[in-house]
Amino acid sequence: MKTFDIPLFYKSPVISRIKNSRKLNDPRKTDYSPTELDFGSVIFYIARHFGFCYGVENAIEISYKALEENPGKRIFLLSEMIHNPDVNNDLVERGVKFLMDTSGKQLIDWNILTSDDIVIVPAFGTTLEIEKQINQKSIDPLKYNTTCPFVEKVWNRADSLGKNGFTVIVHGKYKHEETRATFSHSKESSPTLIIRDISEAVTLGDIILGKKNSSEFYKIFSDRYSAGFDPSRDLNSIGVVNQTTMLATETQSIADYLYDVMTEKFSLENIREHFSDTRDTLCYATHDNQKATYGLLEKKADMALVVGGYNSSNTSHIYELCEEKLPTYFISTADKILSKIAISHFDFYNQKELTTSNFIPQKNPVKIILTSGASCPDSIVDEVLQKILSYFEDAKSIDDVMNEYFSTGNKLN
Ligand code: SF4
Repeated sequence: MKTFDIPLFYKSPVISRIKNSRKLNDPRKTDYSPTELDFGSVIFYIARHFGFCYGVENAIEISYKALEENPGKRIFLLSEMIHNPDVNNDLVERGVKFLMDTSGKQLIDWNILTSDDIVIVPAFGTTLEIEKQINQKSIDPLKYNTTCPFVEKVWNRADSLGKNGFTVIVHGKYKHEETRATFSHSKESSPTLIIRDISEAVTLGDIILGKKNSSEFYKIFSDRYSAGFDPSRDLNSIGVVNQTTMLATETQSIADYLYDVMTEKFSLENIREHFSDTRDTLCYATHDNQKATYGLLEKKADMALVVGGYNSSNTSHIYELCEEKLPTYFISTADKILSKIAISHFDFYNQKELTTSNFIPQKNPVKIILTSGASCPDSIVDEVLQKILSYFEDAKSIDDVMNEYFSTGNKLN
């Protein structure tokens, strides 16, 4: 896989070295068990796969290149480049400005743009309508286009479904930039509908089977179907694609459920005309991160720390998987660990930060799962590890533990 030129400050002396070593030891990713770092009084289980993915590194490389190549010019990002506050803040400190926030709300009027400005398209891609706006300002939106190729792959899949007469069902969060972009591209060639989860798939199934009528469809899926969508016509042949960062198991359940619904309505004999088996369109990073999370959860740990931006979809799914099994704290930076006894963390279900006391169990050793989302720099995960370690005075040093790790045959990059 291509390697990217990303600033050194995003890498780290512990986490990046461990990750690189695992890659060298197991290039085909046959082993998803975590790395165990035993500091004596505290043991960390580090996920086999997490952190910056292909699309994020690609976006970072292009954005820093845009800064380097255009001194003195005004540089705008359509919205957050990726969902990580540290990375976005660093770009802002270097003079980059955001035109919109993540919900699509305009922060800077299009009218201030001139043909001399640079506009960077984020890793999630953008809508055709926004691309048109930028073109109208005589700015080439593709010059610094960081749209991830795995997102473009979904757009291509949706396009080919449409050309073959299928309606596209997008499993995604309709307010997420990537899903808005996928919807915009997909509706060019096919009727398109966004559904959020399996319960909405069940509702859609009821509409397909005539248990619910069209007016209920328009009410329930308001704002999430393409113009002119007619449920009596457009739900006879369907295919499912997804936002690349959804929970893989949920996309599979949705596809399986809708396959059964279409079979019930049109019979198994005719299913190929009515349901296109697209397989899931999750990207490799989401797949690997979720698989590595299942690997982590096989360990008997006392708590988990999941690091990432609170608006990061893939991080929230890792959090959900961990949180089902053990006390889990979703934090954006090491600063959120306020002291040995207090942590400020994101309550994903209520979308707000909470402070929890006595979050580290009184045990010896304490076993901690540590992982992050695809947009989180290794350096931040390192800071989290070091901060926790600082509370264990009798813990072995990082140098000793790293030397032990590399002396047991693990490859050193
Ligand atoms: S998570 Fe996947 S789709 Fe998203 S930027 Fe990374 S590689 Fe691309």
